[in-house]
Amino acid sequence: MTFDDGTIDHYTTVIPLLAQFNMSAIFYISTAKLDTGGYITSRQAREMIDNGNILGSHTHTHPRLLIKGIPQIIEELEVSAQVLQKLHGARPTHFAPPGGLYNEDFNVLPQKQDTGHFGRWIGGITVILK
Ligand SMILES: [Zn+2]
Repeated sequence: MTFDDGTIDHYTTVIPLLAQFNMSAIFYISTAKLDTGGYITSRQAREMIDNGNILGSHTHTHPRLLIKGIPQIIEELEVSAQVLQKLHGARPTHFAPPGGLYNEDFNVLPQKQDTGHFGRWIGGITVILK
């Protein structure tokens, strides 16, 4: 099960429900939104991780990647990866592009650019049930 954007209701509503059924999920967060109004805080993010959930990258600022150039895309991934690394203690292995939008260049970016930022390159949806 996956959830995008890291809005506060993921912490206040989804997490308690998951806990009730002894389940965990992947939460794709845009790291620039952490600790801002309406979004989860860094402390809540760490708590979610400690409870077995995964926080994946949803870029840093949530741009539509189709209209961005490769350097901007790399910047979005890199900054996001650094923030998530601080929370997780490791670089992110899951990624979902904002709006589900990506193109062929973007999809093969890790190979082309050897960014090595994400162990698993997931363009859409993935399911992990614990
Ligand atoms: Zn989104």
